[in-house]
Amino acid sequence: MEQPTARILVAEDSALLRRVIGDVLREQGWTVLEATDGASALHMAQTEDPAVLLMAREMQGLDGLAVLDALRSDPHTEDMPVVFVTGHTDAADLALGLQRGAHDYVRKPVDPVELVARIGTALRLRALHDELARRNAELEQLARTDTLTGLANRRHADDVLRATIAAARRHRRTLSAVLIDVDNFKSVNDLHGHAAGDAVLREIAVRLTAGLREEDTAARWGGEEFLLLLPDSPDAGVVCERLRAGVAGRPMNVHGLLELPVTASFGWAPWTGDETGEALIGRADAALYAAKAAGRDRVVVATASALRAA
Ligand code: GH3
Ligand code: MG
Ligand code: MG
Repeated sequence: MEQPTARILVAEDSALLRRVIGDVLREQGWTVLEATDGASALHMAQTEDPAVLLMAREMQGLDGLAVLDALRSDPHTEDMPVVFVTGHTDAADLALGLQRGAHDYVRKPVDPVELVARIGTALRLRALHDELARRNAELEQLARTDTLTGLANRRHADDVLRATIAAARRHRRTLSAVLIDVDNFKSVNDLHGHAAGDAVLREIAVRLTAGLREEDTAARWGGEEFLLLLPDSPDAGVVCERLRAGVAGRPMNVHGLLELPVTASFGWAPWTGDETGEALIGRADAALYAAKAAGRDRVVVATASALRAA
């Protein structure tokens, strides 16, 4: 069943026909919007997003076919079902409208039963399109998300890294990359089980993202490794230190049963302004390695020599 509150835009230059059609549609519980010529039909279709456009084939100025062409070439309206009202009875002419992308047509004089039936199928088509678009968006979101932590996954992080570097280059902005690796995480699994390890990773993800800004990205880079991308952040070292303290400062609560003290090591690198994402991550990784070597639970910035090596 189509929603009774569906909004239908009726574009027709005859006031009489608009009223007759409008009455039939309103009787179905549908909401009727009206346009009196082609130009306003196009404008209203674009701004009001009606579920269906019922439109005269022939109108003064911009006629129905021209409006249809404009709607089909705009990604926001390309799927909007258009039903033509036409005085033409010639099959070739009716076929032309369908070929150009109309969903259906109603012949004049308009028969109320036929009108309701044709608008009904157009509404069902629209509902199917909307549902498909919603599911596609959901799938896309799933494909970008790490299921354990809800953070961006590695694949998405790679895309964001590339886009963030391109944006920083274009706008001559700064950017910092941070790699974080949980310390001695293997022993959490070994001592308390994999499920406890998973709970710790989830809690760490929450603590890492808590203090980030809208423009920052947090991703699960690998098993117990996380990546942060901080554009326009002059104090990335301060951010890292705050996040490190946030992880180490309070034990991780595991399913309300265990309180596990956990620490993590941080390696970060400011973007040089001309290196690739891979090189930037490579330097953050070298800094992370240095943080591990220096005793873990600390923040290390990529050194000048690492900069030179990059
Ligand atoms: P280090 O301080 O040197 O980083 O020591 P570590 O024990 O953290 O490092 P290591 O690389 O030896 O061990 C990482 C462990 O992380 C091993 C692996 O089983 C565990 N791990 C990776 N992914 C997951 C996951 O999704 N869930 C759980 N529970 N454990 C994971
Ligand atoms: Mg690791
Ligand atoms: Mg580790």
